[in-house]
Amino acid sequence: MKRFYLILVGIVLLISMQTAQCADYFSAGKAAYQAKDYNTARTNFVNAIKTNPNNATYRYYYAQTLVYLKQYNEAKTQYGYVIQLAPNTQLATYSNQALDYISKTTSGGTKSANTKKASTSTKTTSKPASNQPKAVATATDNGDNYIKNAISSSGNVTIWDKSRMPLKVYINNDIKVKADYINQTKAALAEWQAAGNGLFSFVYVNNPAAADVTVIYGRKSAGDLGITKSSNNNNKREKSTITLYTINSATGKPLTPIDVHNVALHEFGHMLGINGHSPSENDRIYSVYDFTKYSNTPLKLTQRDINTMLTLYNMDLDPTAEGDNSITKLLGSEQERQNIALNNELNYIKEVPSNPVGYINAAKSYESNGDTNNAIAYYNKALELDANNKTAMISLARLYFNNKDDKNAEIYLQKVIAKDPKNIDMYCNLTKIYLRRGDRLKAKTTLSTLTNKVPEAKQNATVKELIKAANQVK
Ligand SMILES: [Zn+2]
Repeated sequence: MKRFYLILVGIVLLISMQTAQCADYFSAGKAAYQAKDYNTARTNFVNAIKTNPNNATYRYYYAQTLVYLKQYNEAKTQYGYVIQLAPNTQLATYSNQALDYISKTTSGGTKSANTKKASTSTKTTSKPASNQPKAVATATDNGDNYIKNAISSSGNVTIWDKSRMPLKVYINNDIKVKADYINQTKAALAEWQAAGNGLFSFVYVNNPAAADVTVIYGRKSAGDLGITKSSNNNNKREKSTITLYTINSATGKPLTPIDVHNVALHEFGHMLGINGHSPSENDRIYSVYDFTKYSNTPLKLTQRDINTMLTLYNMDLDPTAEGDNSITKLLGSEQERQNIALNNELNYIKEVPSNPVGYINAAKSYESNGDTNNAIAYYNKALELDANNKTAMISLARLYFNNKDDKNAEIYLQKVIAKDPKNIDMYCNLTKIYLRRGDRLKAKTTLSTLTNKVPEAKQNATVKELIKAANQVK
């Protein structure tokens, strides 16, 4: 009998990346910084960094602002990031000088320590910050695991904060699946809770608006059995939505409740924080589910699945920490983590070349690595496989726009608007392009289309500014 595989997918949406571009936090931050309004500058730089955590310039300005606000510890962390993100650049040199200045200001610092720090950072290229480990340690103390595959496409670790426990879970049964499916879903969640040994827990709620985690049942998709979408704020999970499909799209036959259980175990692993996939087909968080083997077998989490999750939740995420459970010891420096993330995503594509989500995640990794050309190429590959992929369209619109490739940006902005005619950000960026081009008529038309479709957009600060700019007489 022919074996067939369907794909399980975990995607992580960095919602802030997609919504903040219009606000142009960095420019606002710089203006406030120059006006010596450091509190406003700080807020804007924090938001700018959220949209692009790997931009060394954003972090440098943020660090400078923190020095003015006398928040030296956080400033030091940020200068450390700059040196890591942009080694051997002028910014790194400035950051080293600033670190010297801080250590003199805060402790009268010893000259020898400062000199050592400066020389370390100018000689090395990949491990500039003095507090980085020499090599990526393996997680042997935590038992056999695949912790490196838990890294998100942007090189982050993303888990729920302990203060959020118990997580509120809402099960949406709009399509009226049988009780067996729901019971099996709940059983899978209970198995994770037991494995977590108190590190994470769940409570069911009836109010969807109150939920941290939402489970939705779907009929069938293009080939996925489940999808987990999460939004994150830096290292913290904010929300997750898991869709569990009930029909095998390859055969048209319904999944058994046991299939749904097995798929739920996988997707809940993504929801909790394992962003990638185990390289071993024996683990539950492997990228492929084999119906012929497992349809009648309730699977269990493997010890490796559990070890990976426990390692994740016991990790010290402070980037300056150096202990055995620190993120740098377990997963390496920020740059090393990004390289691991990219490698993971490219491996996933090799395994499942037909899934557009793989290309999207790889594109995100390239973006985090500052490789815009490959990011554009991979978003385009995702669109080849799924012409309606909104994430790819929005990302291409954003990248072309940031690259000042107005011709392509205009094409993709219009594509997104056609699909999502109330997306304020897209109209704003389109207007900016027309203004850049000096075409104030088109700018005005775009803005009035927006305010007709979305009347409340008139209250949006960026829209107000653009209306003013479009009506300005030179
Ligand atoms: Zn998956």
